[in-house]
Amino acid sequence: MRVGVPKEIKNHEYRVGLTPASVRELTSRGHDVLVQAGAGEAIGLSDEQYRCVGAHLVAQAEEVFARADMIVKVKEPQPHECRMLRPEQILYTYLHLAPDPAQTKALVDSRAVCIAYETITGPSGGLPLLAPMSEVAGRMAVQAGAHYLEIAHGGRGVLLGGVPGVSPGHVVVIGAGVVGTNALQMAIGLGARVTVLDKSVDRLRQLDLVFGNRISTAYSNAHSIEEAVLDADVVIGGVLVPGAAAPKLVTREHVAHMKKGAVMVDVAIDQGGCFETSHPTTHAQPVYLVDGIVHYCVANMPGAVARTSTFALNNATIGHAIALAEKGWKHAMRDDIHLRRGLNVCQGNVTHEAVARDLGYPH
Ligand code: NAD
Repeated sequence: MRVGVPKEIKNHEYRVGLTPASVRELTSRGHDVLVQAGAGEAIGLSDEQYRCVGAHLVAQAEEVFARADMIVKVKEPQPHECRMLRPEQILYTYLHLAPDPAQTKALVDSRAVCIAYETITGPSGGLPLLAPMSEVAGRMAVQAGAHYLEIAHGGRGVLLGGVPGVSPGHVVVIGAGVVGTNALQMAIGLGARVTVLDKSVDRLRQLDLVFGNRISTAYSNAHSIEEAVLDADVVIGGVLVPGAAAPKLVTREHVAHMKKGAVMVDVAIDQGGCFETSHPTTHAQPVYLVDGIVHYCVANMPGAVARTSTFALNNATIGHAIALAEKGWKHAMRDDIHLRRGLNVCQGNVTHEAVARDLGYPH
């Protein structure tokens, strides 16, 4: 199969669909890989590195789209890219179609075979092609918290790890899934005092077994949340209720009574946020203040560490990319129900039930 990797064109997107190591996995199996020149430049993946593993470098995205049987990307295709897709061509990338009727229509019109990373499931449950980005965001959340706690950045001037003779800062993590677990690991690593809240007692039990008395766990309810956030230096929101907007767990009232200069990092902002006072921000302007509390609500946190995120994403995507290249999409999906769940739009039809229902397509 001929696989194509265009340079990402969405604003401030520096990740790339395939790393040189992933390209090598494909070329060593006899597949052809076309990479647009400069696709990995921003994150230190040079054209030369791609050439060394057998990729053919081409100057224009148009050539990648015109010649490849499968396009491997990171972000959803922009309108110009949708117009270049061909019937039967495979598109393998993040799509996030449910809130995006315009993109869905463009993909339906293209008659391409569009596979969304975010709906591919894993044998042990969960969404394995989303998990790496939650790992990145969870770990970054603590870095952001530590950074904005500094006085010059609007914070209350607390060092999370403390020093001998001075107490550490208190990090409160709400939601102990992938984001929350990665956040608490980083917070422990920095020497902070850590409280973790979740609705799932099983999840808290698992964390207790692993981290013992290095964390405090609490069942999440209005009382425990209030108690924790009023004492917090950093609050990290990582809750997810699948298929629903995030519940507003920290209220306007809580924020008014928190310690001035505390930092709130709402990782769940891409689902509307779990703090009442949150609204989405960007890497260009990541924070704002409400009642002296610093709010960090960047909706695409992993974009800031595009190099790490690219490698993490490739680790999760390359297995299915190889299967698609080796077997073609029909056989690859016949053999793997998890990959089949990634099929969102196929040859003019919306094939993902939730997307079809939300956007009014027949299914
Ligand atoms: P996850 O499913 O692994 O974990 C979510 C956790 O929230 C679960 O343990 C669940 O029990 C818990 N939860 C649900 N309701 C709760 C409540 N009322 N109180 C406490 N806990 C509750 O999800 P995840 O992968 O950790 O993702 C969390 C959120 O972060 C998602 O909205 C995801 O889209 C978002 N995210 C954002 C970025 C970003 O850049 N901002 C990046 C990655 C992920």
